[in-house]
Amino acid sequence: MLQQVNGHSSGSDAQGRESLREDLQEFLGGEVPLHQLDDLTKVNPVTLETVLRCLQARYTADTFYTNAGCTLVALNPFKPVPQLYSPELMREYHAAPQPQKLKPHIFTVGEQTYRNVRSLIEPVNQSIVVSGESGAGKTWTSRCLMKFYAVVAASPTSWESHKIAERIEQRILNSNPVMEAFGNACTLRNNNSSRFGKFIQLQLNSLLVPRDHQMTGAAIQTYLLEKTRVACQDSTERNFHIFYQICKGASADERLQWHLPEGAAFSWLPNPERTLEEDCFEVTREAMLHLGIDAPTQNNIFQALAGLLHLGNIRFADSGDEAQPCRPMDDGAVRTSALLLRLPEDPLLETLRIRTIRAGRQQQVFRKPCSQAECDTRRDCLAKLVYARLPGMRLHPALPWFSSPRLLPALAPQVLPFLAGLLDVYGFESFPHNSLEQLCINYANEKLQQHFVAHYLRAQQEEYAVEGLEWSFVNYQDNQTCLDLIEGSPISICSLINEECRLNRPSSAAQLQTRIESALAGSPCLGHNKLSPEPSFVVLHYAGSVRYHTAGLVEKNKDPIPPELTRLLQQSQDTLLKVLFPADPEEKSQEEPSGQSRAPVLTVVSKFKASLEQLLQVLQATTPHYIRCIKPNSQGRAQALHREEVLNQLEACGLVETIHISAAGFPIRVSHRTFVERYASLRRLHPRAPPDPHSPSPDEGHSAPWALVDFAVSRLRISFGSLCPQRGTGQLEVV
Ligand code: ATP
Ligand code: MG
Repeated sequence: MLQQVNGHSSGSDAQGRESLREDLQEFLGGEVPLHQLDDLTKVNPVTLETVLRCLQARYTADTFYTNAGCTLVALNPFKPVPQLYSPELMREYHAAPQPQKLKPHIFTVGEQTYRNVRSLIEPVNQSIVVSGESGAGKTWTSRCLMKFYAVVAASPTSWESHKIAERIEQRILNSNPVMEAFGNACTLRNNNSSRFGKFIQLQLNSLLVPRDHQMTGAAIQTYLLEKTRVACQDSTERNFHIFYQICKGASADERLQWHLPEGAAFSWLPNPERTLEEDCFEVTREAMLHLGIDAPTQNNIFQALAGLLHLGNIRFADSGDEAQPCRPMDDGAVRTSALLLRLPEDPLLETLRIRTIRAGRQQQVFRKPCSQAECDTRRDCLAKLVYARLPGMRLHPALPWFSSPRLLPALAPQVLPFLAGLLDVYGFESFPHNSLEQLCINYANEKLQQHFVAHYLRAQQEEYAVEGLEWSFVNYQDNQTCLDLIEGSPISICSLINEECRLNRPSSAAQLQTRIESALAGSPCLGHNKLSPEPSFVVLHYAGSVRYHTAGLVEKNKDPIPPELTRLLQQSQDTLLKVLFPADPEEKSQEEPSGQSRAPVLTVVSKFKASLEQLLQVLQATTPHYIRCIKPNSQGRAQALHREEVLNQLEACGLVETIHISAAGFPIRVSHRTFVERYASLRRLHPRAPPDPHSPSPDEGHSAPWALVDFAVSRLRISFGSLCPQRGTGQLEVV
């Protein structure tokens, strides 16, 4: 029964449900019961309130997917609904002559994408953009879509192609548990929160008969893993799942080998008593095996992970004398981590405690003991460095199991024809304490929202105006102003943080706050910073306002890797680390230069910005399909829809505006040229040329399609504007 968290309480469950239904029906005065309205464009009138009521009614009736024009709204059921994702249902959607006539489902989107790739009219690369806040169900949705493709693309035409397709499907499906074990973690908002973004591209064979094409390749691109989590976790959250998996799932022998006795305490392993579904070590191992990571390599990886856990237990105490290095408080932790990472113990300790600096004309090398805080930073940096390179998140090209480019082509995405891309990034999030990680995550979400705004809400309407179509403009919330605040030029939050890194000047968190607030005071998206105990600034994102703390922001953005750490890892005797950190024969002396003579650093934010831009370019070259995941409540409870929370999400993503534009707009677009090529032969059915001022001259031979257009306009509600081929960019839109 639907629990009205915010509304008036009702009596018994059944009674409550019935009265809610009647209430909703009366409110809308429609004949079709609200929960049966498959498309929100049919809700009348379209307002936030009516849309919410419709979704609410459907949620009560266990109907989780609803069309909203060009978007599919997916409500998170927060409970298993196996019948909704069965292979039989996948095949039903795949086999349906018109899948859009079936009940709204992510499989409709999957199938539509699949068919468009092979469209006889206009095959174009496709993408599915899954969005929504943290915990809304994006990863779940993309996992189900990957399964869908694995099932429907498996129809063999020959043994050879079947085998290839099967191997690719297996790899794609098995990449999920592995990537999630290494890249997901339990946060305040989601027990299985993605701490990285991923864009999966499936290449479909276009030579096979229509509707029977198979996957011939796949590529997975990952974005900015939140690697700080390895060494730094909020006390209420957890480290990446894989650490808990090895601690809970190792066999007795492995425990001995990896020095993980039952109940051992690790400071980088908060909340180990929490048992999650995601803690299953066996699933990860099995998937790794299928990916081609053999048992010895796996053993290597897990041993290195255990080494990192012991590394995290190293604590330093100040020696009380600046000239003397800090003391390790527990020699055991140093010894064990050195043993497991197969690093020489003394150099490990030395690297963590002593900095080497080159200075003077002769570039003399000086050794400077680090402060206790610096030792901690170096220890954390070492862990992040190793973790980020471990296979799991990263398909490392030097490792043998990556060696089949045919299966996982590492090609530039744009060059592969007929791709279906699937984007699942970390969702918008706001915690009591937000830092660079949240800034990047929310920046990525702003970018995706802007892609939607620009591609759909803005471009569509502008085009109607250009085409001279009758159209009353629908106002929408454009998040470009917020993006300008974050990434715009010449001054933005990113540029100011980068500037601090470039100048490499000592500045406090409070100074950074002041610089941001004074330089960007004119932006309407910079929130009013009410008195806060810690230096911070507030950004009014499209999905809500977030306070970012400035302490440590610049340092995180620099993400400096002391060269001594890399050199230390190059000394490892471990087979895996040797591959991941190969010795560089041409390595110049890499001691840290002193003073201001540092080479310009490529900051985290700049790298992230560049990769986002690349992603957006890929998306722009595709026909996008949108799935909006909605989180019904923040507690993760089944059958509880929190009105205010859902309203906020609907409002943030501009759903009502989307519905208005979708309902009045023209969802099918075919270029004039394709239209002519495809339908010219039908001319004899409708020989009358339209009396249109844009009509091309008869000698151009376009009278036939115009006649057809005329027919289409009158009979099929086809609307057109600048179809005139002279204008070059004309598009036909069919309702
Ligand atoms: P983040 O941005 O933090 O990565 P997300 O949007 O990827 O969040 P998911 O991890 O996909 O969120 O979903 C959160 C949880 O919600 C899942 O672990 C699962 O328990 C539940 N869930 C999501 N979608 C479904 C579904 N369709 N059926 C059943 N449970 C679901
Ligand atoms: Mg996710």
